[in-house]
Amino acid sequence: MKICPKYTFGVGDRFANGAHAQLTAFIEAKKLGIDITPVWNKSNREHNIIGSEPVQTRQAADQAVADLGWSGEYLLDADHINLSTVDRFVAPCDFFTLDVADDIGEAADPADVEAFIASHPELIGSVVIQGIAQPFEITRADVEKTANQFLKATRKAAAIYQHIVAAKGGVDHFVTEVSMDETDSPQTPPELLIILAAIADQGIPIQTIAPKFTGRFNKGVDYAGDPQQFEKEFNHDLAVIAHAVKTYGLPATLKLSVHSGSDKFSIYPFIKKAIQRTGAGLHIKTAGTNWLEEIVGLAESGGEGLALAKQIYAKALEKKEALCEPYATVIDIKDSNLPSAEVVNSWTSTQFTDALRHIPTNPGYNADLRQLLHVGFKIAAQLGDTYIQALKDNSEVVAKNVTANLLDRHMKPLFL
Ligand SMILES: [Zn+2]
Repeated sequence: MKICPKYTFGVGDRFANGAHAQLTAFIEAKKLGIDITPVWNKSNREHNIIGSEPVQTRQAADQAVADLGWSGEYLLDADHINLSTVDRFVAPCDFFTLDVADDIGEAADPADVEAFIASHPELIGSVVIQGIAQPFEITRADVEKTANQFLKATRKAAAIYQHIVAAKGGVDHFVTEVSMDETDSPQTPPELLIILAAIADQGIPIQTIAPKFTGRFNKGVDYAGDPQQFEKEFNHDLAVIAHAVKTYGLPATLKLSVHSGSDKFSIYPFIKKAIQRTGAGLHIKTAGTNWLEEIVGLAESGGEGLALAKQIYAKALEKKEALCEPYATVIDIKDSNLPSAEVVNSWTSTQFTDALRHIPTNPGYNADLRQLLHVGFKIAAQLGDTYIQALKDNSEVVAKNVTANLLDRHMKPLFL
């Protein structure tokens, strides 16, 4: 098993053009005493939408690391993969996010459920977890229900894991994450405990787990939900993980992974407090926020850059339904708040960047426009060289925005 560093931070580089600006944020953070390991992540879905290959992400990351002299560790995440999509990620990646969301709720074999319950009497009754005041009161029926919902998914995770072990020729060179975030209902801390017991039974050396937390984690915008409720749940999840590590012999490095973790400014103070209080590690994925900063940078550059940003918005508006479809569980766009293409075409550079840049106190900020552009990277992909050339022509302004967004709006509030 490759050991996953304590604090890891997922960054996405949709067009394999931003790794230098992203790595600069980690270098600046390190100067401030924040030791975070970059994890470049790009899901199969994003590769398919853009028409790119995982090896391109590897090349961009390696190049940035070499050019900027980064001597720390860095990882490449095969994000949200399953048995049918993992193969092209095997060689370039050393972090694998096994996505089992599709199998959650698929009824398990009754014999498996019975065997699970029989081998885990410790899960039934009053379960005392260090760090949680009230013991969990878990009934046999609760365990049965959760086992029914998740056993099949954990078996699927094991099958993907074993496939990667065989393809990689061993277990020593990668980190394993299991993700359950892109599903309909959140997992409660008692459910997380049962799921971790099942994952341990499958022999998966899981080091990060991405549950679906309470509230909405929409892409590119702030948390929508009750931050106090989130705080309680997050702290309970941390306690459950520490308990599961001891009880089920899971890797001591096991930690929570927060998916769609960019831009969740209202819960960062609670995450920071929790990890500082407990000493727990954290993995947070922030992929898509970077692409939005590319658009901010183009708009800020004015001239042709601004014109291209407007063109991408107009096209995204036109293709809204198709663009939103793959992201249905992780976006929430109010159509009535989307300005028309005509209105946006009349905007100045500042009006555009005010609307898009994630500064909630800015009266011009528009979370709906931001979410639409978040899923609109396919439009930029279809522009091909025109888009890449625009990034190159305006590289300084784009890079400044990419770095500042990661460092000032994400890393500092979470870790400093
Ligand atoms: Zn996810």
